[in-house]
Amino acid sequence: MINCTVAETSAALAAGDISSVEITQAYLDRIATLNGELNAFITVCENSALLQAKAADDARANGNDRPLLGIPLAHKDIFCTKDILTTCGSRMLHNFVSPYNATVVERFIDAGTVLLGKTNMDEFAMGSSNETSFFGDVKNPWNTECVPGGSSGGSAAAVAADLCAMATGTDTGGSIRQPAAFCGVTGLKPSYGRVSRWGMIAFASSLDQAGPITKSAEDAALMLNVMSGLDKKDSTSIDRPIEDFTATLNQPLKGLRIGVPKQHFADGLSMEVEQAIRNALAEYEKLGATIKEMDLTNSHLSVSAYYVVAPAEASANLSRFDGVRYGHRCEDPTDLEDMYKRTRSEGFGEEVKRRIMIGTYALSAGYYDAYYRKAQKIRRLIKDDFDRAFEEVDVIIGPTSPHTAFKLGSKADPVSMYLEDIYTIAVNLAGLPAASIPAGIANGLPIGMQIIGKYFDEAKILNVAHQFQQHTDWHKQKSTAITAASGES
Ligand code: GLN
Repeated sequence: MINCTVAETSAALAAGDISSVEITQAYLDRIATLNGELNAFITVCENSALLQAKAADDARANGNDRPLLGIPLAHKDIFCTKDILTTCGSRMLHNFVSPYNATVVERFIDAGTVLLGKTNMDEFAMGSSNETSFFGDVKNPWNTECVPGGSSGGSAAAVAADLCAMATGTDTGGSIRQPAAFCGVTGLKPSYGRVSRWGMIAFASSLDQAGPITKSAEDAALMLNVMSGLDKKDSTSIDRPIEDFTATLNQPLKGLRIGVPKQHFADGLSMEVEQAIRNALAEYEKLGATIKEMDLTNSHLSVSAYYVVAPAEASANLSRFDGVRYGHRCEDPTDLEDMYKRTRSEGFGEEVKRRIMIGTYALSAGYYDAYYRKAQKIRRLIKDDFDRAFEEVDVIIGPTSPHTAFKLGSKADPVSMYLEDIYTIAVNLAGLPAASIPAGIANGLPIGMQIIGKYFDEAKILNVAHQFQQHTDWHKQKSTAITAASGES
């Protein structure tokens, strides 16, 4: 049962074939067996999970049958969870127990889900490999010498290795899609404003967005149904009618216009990844879609613009970690300034400090116009590219990442790590929704395909993803490494 999708588990629970307590215990056992090796979870909530599972079973016995009732999930450790450690992967918050729940967490509680624990992540969501976490690297379940991607690497690895039925992630420049690609699972970054950011520890507020990481597009639709919607506590959350994203999954794709950006098939793309995506496009043609080559003219500027805007916002957001209010405080400060300096020097890791420095520099008088304002202008050009493209196509498809998962420790310089998100970052700058779904395997590692949609058109992305998953079985492939480790045949 632990390798089933949420939809399948939900049906089994509704039919009474299994109880939430049984399935929760099975996941907890699996975590106990594999987390030592994968390091996907920072915190496991064994006791409370079993109590929540029992409550879900009781609710079901009393006639309650919501779709996610009793389904065990994991939250990325960036979401505040009441009375549970919330670290954001940082020494700064290694002892921070949140006094409240993020809105996303609250919505999953209302839906009757069971919280198994909190997943490992790059420190403050800054990274593409999960190697910047204070709690150690996460290992890719397909090959434990490889990274799971980042920053939501713990969530992606946990879903891929069947340590949970589904998980939340967040995506500022690619952090849901790239780990989903590297771990062979489905990940969706919703439109900016679709999901409340309240209680989600801020990295770059104009880019951050929470979304689902799952075993199928149908499961992502089920999660998005729960996560979406206006939240008065987040002024950037948008007031639109709540859709049922499962309702349109089965629409036929005949007549679908797919844009294929030349810039996403340029130098640097591995041959195996290109071939897998071309095969997937051929599959879509069989389903009645038409393919149109197109340009995203300014996409080569997206990484540079992002690495001004995101650090600028991060430098402001992270100023709150001062040793006074949250988490870590240095020992025996001599005065206030000494406390600020030492607390922040000790509490933040290298990459976070680098971003704070870049961001502070880019925002300082004299450099603001040269860097920050310029980056904002490029951001507009990138959005205009997408607006033009979507006049002629319904979705844009390409690779999520130029290659499959790389070896732990193999990317030592920051810039090569920053280039990891070359196909994903523009989507965040433009505020658009995009998914990554499995579309192939090369050398024993999964390949991810990115599907980008119009603003607030998640339903179309999920429909396009689901149809692919109805006609192929890449999303069902499992790493043999992990089945061997758990003693299954
Ligand atoms: N890898 C990018 C960064 O390091 C994106 C991270 C994210 O989406 N949270 O900033």
